[in-house]
Amino acid sequence: MTSSTTPLHYLSLAEAAAALAAGRVSSAELTDAVIARAEAVEPRLRALLSADPASARAQAQASDARRAGGGSLGPLDGIPIGLKDVIAVRDQPLTAGSRMLEKFISPYDATVTRRLREAGAVLYGRHNCDEFAMGSSTENSAFHPTGNPWALDRVPGGSSGGSAAALAAGEALATLGSDTGGSIRQPAALCGVVGLKPTYGRVSRFGLVAYASSLDQIGPFGRTVEDVALVLQAIAGHDERDSTSVGAAAEDFAAALSAPSVPRRLGLPREYFGEGLDPEVAVAVERAVTHYRELGCEVREVSLPHTPYCLDTYYVLATAEASSNLARYDGIRYGHRCAAPRDLHDLYFRSRAEGFGAEVKRRIILGTYVLSSGYYDAYYLRAQKVRTLVRQDFLRAFEQVDALLTPTSPIPAFRRGEKANPLAMYLCDIYTIGANLAGLPAMSVPCGFTRAGLPVGFQLIGKPLGESELLAIGHAYDRVHQWGRRRPNL
Ligand code: GLN
Repeated sequence: MTSSTTPLHYLSLAEAAAALAAGRVSSAELTDAVIARAEAVEPRLRALLSADPASARAQAQASDARRAGGGSLGPLDGIPIGLKDVIAVRDQPLTAGSRMLEKFISPYDATVTRRLREAGAVLYGRHNCDEFAMGSSTENSAFHPTGNPWALDRVPGGSSGGSAAALAAGEALATLGSDTGGSIRQPAALCGVVGLKPTYGRVSRFGLVAYASSLDQIGPFGRTVEDVALVLQAIAGHDERDSTSVGAAAEDFAAALSAPSVPRRLGLPREYFGEGLDPEVAVAVERAVTHYRELGCEVREVSLPHTPYCLDTYYVLATAEASSNLARYDGIRYGHRCAAPRDLHDLYFRSRAEGFGAEVKRRIILGTYVLSSGYYDAYYLRAQKVRTLVRQDFLRAFEQVDALLTPTSPIPAFRRGEKANPLAMYLCDIYTIGANLAGLPAMSVPCGFTRAGLPVGFQLIGKPLGESELLAIGHAYDRVHQWGRRRPNL
């Protein structure tokens, strides 16, 4: 695919960076193309919760002026990038998909936002998501659902569904999401783009609306693995404002892609290929495995024996942390406040009753229960112990293989309203939550389509802080196939 045949809003980030550097396009043109595209498709897609075209155009002009002034600019300079609406951007709305924060304007930038600004990126859209990132379909957004660009009556996945759909639809050249149990990787798979959840602590969570703090990570969506590496490069790194941020030395993630591709050892966890896996997803993932074999990779079956406990463990720990994190929405300091409260209790009760949606309430109730005295040891403490066993499973597997390859989602994009039962929705994360429990980097790479034309992705799970190797392995497949460059008929 060449730049001459690809509309500006569908360039890969790397292509756009090259075109900007060569003076073939300006940031103003790229930004206008993205804004025009968003205006054309948003009435049907609804991936945006808010956008600031005037601010984006001003940022683009500033980038073009920097370029005209000479000097070497980084690859993100002048590139339009969108953010999930759980990431703070100063003076912009920050709703987390919730009525609770409907009128909230962020007084500060998240660390990732500041880093993108410093890299010269043009910040344009704020993307729809499940309320407080709780969900797998973006249907839990308090505002409206988002369509899947490949089939508008189907969901884009979630909770970062808006960020995945916006990218697949050409409303940005890259986007950021957050991933607590799969919220970057699952929508990436369902929308046919690449999505990376970094190692826990690799990217600062400062300025991210907290869901489950021991699991939350911010990460990039891109059309290619190379694009994801370029965005990760900009946002990763130690941040003293996030005490869980790791102090790992800076790495050149993009350079890791050009390293000579040596045959690697890949593991297929047998627990990830069983019951519940859609046959068409299985076929597409098997084809990716075959590609790796042909590249000279040694592929072997491994076992992660505690996999059957992952979902339960996640829903104990994530809800416990959510119930604690969401206690801050008290109707007093910020967020929704009910009208004419009778007294303090009435203010708390009604503000929270009105501000939170059904799924958020369900999780607060569940989380409060597992933390309550008498049940703490039976549920929360036990889940923490199982979490350790899950991590040990992965570390043991990494003694035999360099990365694990699995399906990202058991099923392709489903119809809106199809998963009315919360448990059916929770099962969407069956293959993704293990990496969150273990804190490992994991990436979804698109690997084809079903007969109905729905995207399929496979997941690579890497060693702690093994992003460079993970990206190199993903790139070895992606540079040949580039499924994320396909364009939906929207
Ligand atoms: N779907 C999972 C949940 O609802 C994961 C969400 C996420 O990663 N933010 O908790």
